[in-house]
Amino acid sequence: MRVLKIYKTLWLLLIAILLINGCTISNSPQQFTDFALGTIISITTYGNLSRTDTNVINDLFQYAHDVEMRMSTTVSDYTETEILNLNNNAGIQPVSLMPDTFRIIKDGIAYTRLTNGAFNIVIWPLSSVWDIKQLEQNNAIPSAHAIQTAQSRINVSDVIVDDARSTIFLTETGMGVDVGGIAKGWVADHIATMLSEAAVTPAIIDIGGNIRALGTKPNGERWKIGIQDPYSSHGETVGFVAVGDISIVTSGDYERFTEINGVHYHHIIDPVTGYPTANNLKSVTIITKDGTLADALSTAVYIMGLEVGYQFVRAQPHVEALFLTQDREIIVTPALKDMFHLTNDAFTVVEYQPRSQ
Ligand code: AMP
Ligand code: MG
Repeated sequence: MRVLKIYKTLWLLLIAILLINGCTISNSPQQFTDFALGTIISITTYGNLSRTDTNVINDLFQYAHDVEMRMSTTVSDYTETEILNLNNNAGIQPVSLMPDTFRIIKDGIAYTRLTNGAFNIVIWPLSSVWDIKQLEQNNAIPSAHAIQTAQSRINVSDVIVDDARSTIFLTETGMGVDVGGIAKGWVADHIATMLSEAAVTPAIIDIGGNIRALGTKPNGERWKIGIQDPYSSHGETVGFVAVGDISIVTSGDYERFTEINGVHYHHIIDPVTGYPTANNLKSVTIITKDGTLADALSTAVYIMGLEVGYQFVRAQPHVEALFLTQDREIIVTPALKDMFHLTNDAFTVVEYQPRSQ
C-alpha cells in the first residue's frame, strides 16, 4: 500500500514538473498509474497530451476512487458505503441511490438473469462469509450452517427496483448487493467513454488485468494484449491476443485466494454450491466490446465451467472466450483461433471436445 502511495506521488510530481515547465507532455506512449478498487489502474495514451488532458486523467482516477468509496462492500476496509447502507436496509426499506450506483445494480440484475444466476449481483451474503481476509484471520472456512444461511439469501427475485424513484429494495433480511464482479469493467467503460469524449485516444486502460483497448494503434497494427499465466507472478503471460477496439477481461482462482489446511480457497463463489468454484478451469478470458459485460461474463463463465461455459459463450453475439484449464490446456472459441498466439510452451492449445452425453 505504502509503496503504491509513493509511486502515485512520484507520478503526480512528474506531471507537475512537466506542467510547471509550461509544455505539453509529448513522449509517446505515456503511462499514468494509480491505486484504486483494490488494484493498480494504468492508463496508457498515445500522442501528445495537453495540460487539459492530464486534468482529464486525474479526474478519471478520482472517479475510480469515488466508485470505490461509494460501492465497496469489503467490510474489512469500509464500514460505510452507499452499497453497505443499501445492504444494511435489507428487509427494512427501499434505499434511494446515486444514478451510477443505481445503474450498475440494474446492469448486475440483467447479467444475473442472462447467466441464469451464475453471476449473481446479490451474492454478498456468500461473498462476505468467504471474505479472504477473514478466512486468513480465522485460519478456518465458514461453517456449513453459515454457508447455508447465506445461500438462502441470494435470490435476485427478492430485489425490487423502482425506476421512478431510483430506489432499490432488498426485501429479505440479510440480503446484500456485491458489485465486485463488475465494478472494474464498469469503471473501464466509464474511463473509455471519457477519454473518447476528450479525444485522448488511442489508449489502453488496464484495471488490474481488466483491459480496454480504445481506438486503433497509431501505426495501424492490432493491439497485442497478453493473457496472464495463472501459475506465474503477475505480468507473465501464456500468449497474447491481437485485437482492435475491444475489452478483454480475465477471471480466475489465482487472483485472490488463501490456503487452509492445504486447500486452495478463492474469491469466485458458485451460487449453486455456496463454495468457491471448483472445476477444471484455472481462468476464463472474455473478449467483447462492453467492459461491464466482459467482466460479468468472465466471472459467470468461470463458474459455469468449460462445458456449459463454452456453449453459453457460443450463444452470445459478439462474445469470444479463452478457457485455461488446470491441466495447462487452452481452448478458444472459433473467432479467437487466428487472434490468439501462444508464446509459453508450458501450455498447449487444444480443440474444444464436447463431452459425449
Ligand atoms: P471477478 O474478479 O471479476 O471474477 O470478480 C470476483 C468478485 O466478484 C469477488 O471478489 C466477489 O466480490 C464477486 N463475486 C464472487 N462470486 C460471485 C458471483 N457468483 N456472482 C457475482 N459476483 C461474484
Ligand atoms: Mg468479473
